[in-house]
Amino acid sequence: MTTAQATATTFECVVCGAPIELGDDTLQGELIDCGDCGTELEVVSTQPFLIQEAPQEAEDWGQ
Ligand SMILES: [Zn+2]
Repeated sequence: MTTAQATATTFECVVCGAPIELGDDTLQGELIDCGDCGTELEVVSTQPFLIQEAPQEAEDWGQ
């Protein structure tokens, strides 16, 4: 039996600098909450991994 080894990539939160671990199964466009400052971060690319602060305007506002 072979177990696929998951590699995790660690990023710094763009807002507070806290380490954020992204697994290999992280998808492009996935939103991740920083556990430290609570900022929502968006995975804008997975090849290579690139994250940015997610837009604050949610689609469900105004209703
Ligand atoms: Zn943060």
